[in-house]
Amino acid sequence: DLAQVAEVEGVNIYAVGGFVRDLLLGVANLDVDVVVEGNAIAFAEALQRQCDCRVRPHEKFVTAVVIFPDGYKLDLASTRTEYYLQPGALPLVEQASLKLDLYRRDFTINTLALALNGPRQGELTDYFGAQRDLHDKALRVLHNLSFVEDPTRMLRAVRFEQRLGFTLGQHTAHLLRSAVQMGFLQRVSASRVLHELVLLLGEPQPGRALARLVELGLLDAISEELRFDDSLQQHFVQAGRAINWYELLPEVAPLEHWPVYFLCLLADLKTTAVERLCQRLGMPQRYRRLFVEQRHEAWPQYHQLERLGQRVEQLCGSELARLLDGLPVELLLLGMARTRHQPVRLAFSRYVTGLRCLRPMLDGRDLQRLGCPAGPLLGTLLRQLRDARLDGQVHTREEELAWVRV
Ligand code: ATP
Repeated sequence: DLAQVAEVEGVNIYAVGGFVRDLLLGVANLDVDVVVEGNAIAFAEALQRQCDCRVRPHEKFVTAVVIFPDGYKLDLASTRTEYYLQPGALPLVEQASLKLDLYRRDFTINTLALALNGPRQGELTDYFGAQRDLHDKALRVLHNLSFVEDPTRMLRAVRFEQRLGFTLGQHTAHLLRSAVQMGFLQRVSASRVLHELVLLLGEPQPGRALARLVELGLLDAISEELRFDDSLQQHFVQAGRAINWYELLPEVAPLEHWPVYFLCLLADLKTTAVERLCQRLGMPQRYRRLFVEQRHEAWPQYHQLERLGQRVEQLCGSELARLLDGLPVELLLLGMARTRHQPVRLAFSRYVTGLRCLRPMLDGRDLQRLGCPAGPLLGTLLRQLRDARLDGQVHTREEELAWVRV
């Protein structure tokens, strides 16, 4: 029991941040952040002595992650304050009171603390008007330099506005626009901007957030290559539908949503422009491959399907597979989202649901047993056999055997 250990250790502990905010809003949130007025690592170790859990300490920030046997993770931090030596740089950290700890946070609504032990157990601490702002559905920073100290808060602001249905307070909106005009976002490291963009694109309706980024001048600040208009808004809506549809299919691998939306956002950018953008954002290699090379390879296939239009329906399974084989699922969903032709959308869905994973029942070894020598011929035969399955000429192992013998 957290409270008991805190009593024995003689420290006060509080649930803080998003968890308490969501508790008051009635929104589910299993992500509990706990601050310890004292040393979080020492507290985590005391916890470990009392119950079955593992501790991963982080000495530099005096934080710890406690991992319970069922996989549940609890984040523990020591109350601390932060100093910013330069706008956009990471802060220096020093131990401090609960009030200073809450003061370093991004928005008032994230500054509530719920006492988990001691005589005030269960009571809320609200130093900065968080309950008032939750009631007013207003997103407010705590002080005038907030966006200057950490410009990524501007992207967080848009994310929270959309997610919670809140609006920036008037003064906060003014501070944000000034920080945009003064180019503060450009001072932030690529990886921090990308991290926030990924979170934003991972929200349930990222199209609305993108429109807001444009309105606030933030999309330009991220990259001048990017634009977002009504037609892209439509693509985002269609991408959302395609993702929902895909996730309802049986036995599909988990899918990250943000790359599908990021692909939509790239719209008709030339490959060289996408390369520049990936460079600017410090995109990790495996995503760069998807956004640059694989997207480039998908373009002719999309065009071919679009050119066929209505006639796409007449393609047999093997012809469709020849066009779409090798495309990662993100690019298949993008194709579905972007097309204006219903038959083309259906062709994508026909491929994803049925043809994509269809393989012959016989494998290379079976064919060798039937007398086919190892080598290129074997590969050709397997491909032809798959085509026969894709086109519905064979359905069972027996039919495949008969087909091979012929
Ligand atoms: P979510 O539901 O998205 O997890 P959250 O509020 O829990 O929302 P986290 O990113 O998990 O957000 O951060 C936890 C807390 O840390 C926030 O509530 C906020 O108070 C603080 N925080 C996070 N990032 C910043 C930042 N850039 N500047 C100031 N405070 C921040």
